[in-house]
Amino acid sequence: MSVIQAPRGTFDVLPADAARRAVLQSHAERILGAAGYRRIETPTFEPTELFARGVGEATDIVQKEMYTFDDGGGRSLTLRPEGTAPVCRAYLEHGMHKLPQPVKFWYLSSFFRAEAPQRGRYRQFWQVGAEAIGSAEPEADAELIILLAELLDAMAVKEPRLRISSLGTPATRAAYREELTAFLRAHKDGLSPEVVARIDLNPLRAFDADDPRTRETMAGAPLLLERLAADDVEHFAQVRELLDDQELAYEVDPTLVRGIDYYTRTLFEFTSDALGAQSAVGGGGRYDELMQQLSGPPTPASGWAAGIERILLAAPEPPVARLAVDLFVARAVPEAGRAAFALAAEARRAGLSAQLELAGRSLKGQLKQADRLGARYVAIVGDTALISLKDMESGDQRELETQTVIPAILRGSRLV
Ligand code: AMP
Repeated sequence: MSVIQAPRGTFDVLPADAARRAVLQSHAERILGAAGYRRIETPTFEPTELFARGVGEATDIVQKEMYTFDDGGGRSLTLRPEGTAPVCRAYLEHGMHKLPQPVKFWYLSSFFRAEAPQRGRYRQFWQVGAEAIGSAEPEADAELIILLAELLDAMAVKEPRLRISSLGTPATRAAYREELTAFLRAHKDGLSPEVVARIDLNPLRAFDADDPRTRETMAGAPLLLERLAADDVEHFAQVRELLDDQELAYEVDPTLVRGIDYYTRTLFEFTSDALGAQSAVGGGGRYDELMQQLSGPPTPASGWAAGIERILLAAPEPPVARLAVDLFVARAVPEAGRAAFALAAEARRAGLSAQLELAGRSLKGQLKQADRLGARYVAIVGDTALISLKDMESGDQRELETQTVIPAILRGSRLV
């Protein structure tokens, strides 16, 4: 039988990686918490319909990338491919539209998409996300953008770039969609077959195509940004003004497209030029229509999600941090096992970090292990009432009564 490996497109978070993730999480907690965002956690799987309605039937996510299964009782469930629709479901389910608005959430969870795995693209990946539900103000959009910029800055993400745009309202988009569809039909010869096949399903994605001929054709296509209604133009101008006031650099990119249907008005994305093909670090925008698509009351909202793995790939590797060990408890003889165990347990209760020999090493081997761990002190427990305490920094060794070992460490170490 062969050794079992993790499924394709997944990875283990090993202890060294977990430490970096914990740093990211604590930055998110601090930055988002200071702006009134509170943590939410939703189930790993949801009714399939939530994503079909929330993310959009025509999107790649819903059409090709969802892990959908029957729960055995005839209900279709899906491993969450994104976090916004679940947060909106929870908001409605718990009647949070009756709370003072907006209600602000953040999350850090894993998500699932059946994509072709490559560097920075996985089938199970982690996102940190923030949502401000119940505010139509441009300040909400600008606040969210600034908070993500701060998080990326705190993680020292290299070469970040911000692009923003506005999608206007559904009415503007519907009229524009017709105009764009007519343009695409009239220029079929200059478009890739995949784009032609999706003209009716999702014409906006034509701007997203990698094919050079399609890109050339699309350079002459009408832009939604030029068709926005006056109040949407004003909303977008206000968002930009707030970003300008904060001196946050951005580019207005009228061809910005994101792979999810629910966006209205503000749309934004952070990329890092330090990443390869998968350069998107995080993005989001306003989704004023989503709550109604989920049968809720009209509720303006805005949010973003950023990929944890992408942030870590674009951030410098920190020096490997060693776990602090105040005390290593060694045994001079096997019979000292119970006394050694008791000493380690008591040391932890006293607030010290303490490790016990657990691999049956010789005394010499135990001292070597203590050294490898970087232990500050080693207590050698033998078959007498006295314990030998070795200061690994100075090399001094003293014989002490059992009950005086921990006080001696507390006195001698920086803990006191
Ligand atoms: P999205 O939900 O598609 O807007 O994605 C938001 C962010 O999540 C992206 O900018 C990426 O950083 C990250 N992301 C999306 N899909 C994946 C994936 N398959 N693997 C790793 N990160 C991803």
